[in-house]
This record gives sequence, C-alpha cells and structure tokens, in this order.
Amino acid sequence: RAKEAGRGTFAFFEESLNERAQQRRQMENDLRIALERGEFELFYQPLFDLEKDRIGSFEALLRWNHPRRGLVSPVEFIPIAEETGLIVPLGAWALRQACHEATRWPDHVRVAVNVSSVQFHRPGLQEIIVQALGQSGLAPERLEIEITESIFLEGSEATLKLLHTLRTLGIRIALDDFGTGYSSLSYLQSFPFDKLKIDRSFIQNLLTRPGASAVVRAITDLAHALGMETTAEGVEERGQLAELRNQGCSSVQGFLFSKPMQAAEIIRLLDTAPARSASAA
Ligand code: C2E
Ligand code: MG
Ligand code: MG
Ligand code: MG
Repeated sequence: RAKEAGRGTFAFFEESLNERAQQRRQMENDLRIALERGEFELFYQPLFDLEKDRIGSFEALLRWNHPRRGLVSPVEFIPIAEETGLIVPLGAWALRQACHEATRWPDHVRVAVNVSSVQFHRPGLQEIIVQALGQSGLAPERLEIEITESIFLEGSEATLKLLHTLRTLGIRIALDDFGTGYSSLSYLQSFPFDKLKIDRSFIQNLLTRPGASAVVRAITDLAHALGMETTAEGVEERGQLAELRNQGCSSVQGFLFSKPMQAAEIIRLLDTAPARSASAA
C-alpha cells in the first residue's frame, strides 16, 4: 500500500512537473511573440536624492502586457528570457526605450536601466548602449546601468575590462541588490562603482532586527569611503527614511515615495511637482 501511495505521489509530482514544463514552453513562445508585437512596457520608479532633496533619477522596470494574463511581473519572465537568450533583444529594447524616454526629462534627472548578467556576458552590449545613446541623443552621463554581483561569477578579467570600457563611454554603473549575492568585498576594490544599491531585505529589517541597522551603516560607510553613492531600496516607512537619513544614505527608493509609474505619469509628476521634497512624502 505504501508503495502504491508512493507511486501515486510520484505520478502526481511528475504530472505537475510536466505541467510546469509545458507552461514554461508556452511562456517562451509567448515571449518571442510579445517582443515582435511590442507587448513590453517600461515603468519608472523615482530615486529620491536626500542631499539635493529632489528626484535624482528613475529606474526603468520592465512590464509585460500579456494579452490573456494582463500585467506580468519581471520576476516571472526575466529568468525565462535569460535561459532562452531572449533577454538580449529584450534588454536592448529596454535600453533604447529608456534612453529615448529620458530625453523628455530635465537634464539633471538620470535613467537607470537593469542589465542582466546574461546580457552582460554576451558580445555586443557596448554597441547596443552606444546605439541607444546615439539614436536618442541622451548624454551618456544621464544613463546608469544596474548590474548585480552575479556578473562576477564568470571570467572576472573580461568583466572588469567591459566595466571599464562602459565607464569610458561616460555612463554610470550601479551595483544592484548589494549584500544578497555572492558577496565578496574584493571586487569593490577592483572596480569603482558609482553606486551601491542596498538590497530591500536589509531595509525591511532596519527597524526591527537587531544588527540590521549596523549592517546598513557599515555598507553606507564603506561605500562612501570608496567614493560610491548609496541607494536604499524598498523604503516603505517614514521610520526607515529617518534612520537612512541619519546614516547618511545618498538616496532612497520605495513605495513610501512612489510605486513604479507609467512614462506619461512621470512627465506629469515632473511638471507639477518638480521639487517634491522627501520630507513631504
Ligand atoms: P530590482 O532591479 O532590484 O528592482 C527593484 C524592485 O523592487 C522592483 O520590482 C520594484 O518595483 C520593487 N520595489 C521598489 N520599491 C519597493 C518597495 O517599497 N516595496 C517592495 N515590496 N518592492 C519595491 P519589479 O519591478 O517587480 O522588478 C523585479 C526585478 O526584475 C528587478 O529588481 C530586476 O532585477 C528585474 N528587472 C526589472 N526590469 C528589468 C529589465 O529591464 N532588465 C532586467 N535584466 N531585469 C529587470
Ligand atoms: Mg534594479
Ligand atoms: Mg535592486
Ligand atoms: Mg531587487
């Protein structure tokens, strides 16, 4: 009987695995078509500069307007896009679109675009960026790319070389989700990032978990000693904002200020509240 039950469980497990594989193939197909049909859209979330007391940049965040499923989160489709290599054309589109959109914003406002490790290690990223800047006319200094620690898992010499090449183009480079990855502090020495983005998990625990505050302070102090700015991700509460301000964090991003918005909303926001201050959030 036990054996039967075991087999039943296994059959059930196998079936759900098949179902998942099927859903994945479906999503892969849908992604290809979506790219052709232009079903992707960039939302933008402000990063509030605490020193200048104004919006310093917007992070571009991909959304997929799926014809049947509605708005699909990048958490769902980015991993599949990475596995299938579709992240390369999709990421190129995001770079072009974000640069184009940012030309409509005031000159002091930058745009930050996420670049996947897969995209980073494929040849042609430099050309894609140069083209996005050239076609839009956006000043390179107004583009920031966000990469994660995972880019260092592969051939670190080539990685550093590309980072330096991108830097010479004039663009800025931020290290995203800092503290969650394969954290080795050695690469902070080997490349001068413009910014460390402190992962949301640390901010979430900032006021509740003993030690979280010390960790955030250590990251902030280290970054600043190395000449890097810091952004706290996922700021949702006033108390967190106060603590981050106190710790000297350069900028903050999170639902306390704004959720990611559509491009048209940004234009309205910049028109109506150009100097909306963090204290008013
Ligand atoms: P990320 O780059 O770390 O982006 C920040 C994520 O945190 C966004 O999720 C944003 O909506 C969310 N967030 C911001 N503030 C808060 C907050 O206060 N509370 C909470 N709970 N969440 C907050 P989103 O838009 O779902 O994106 C998830 C991830 O997908 C991104 O994480 C990034 O890794 C990836 N992604 C998004 N767009 C792109 C893209 O164009 N290219 C690539 N390669 N990856 C992208
Ligand atoms: Mg990011
Ligand atoms: Mg992040
Ligand atoms: Mg993240």
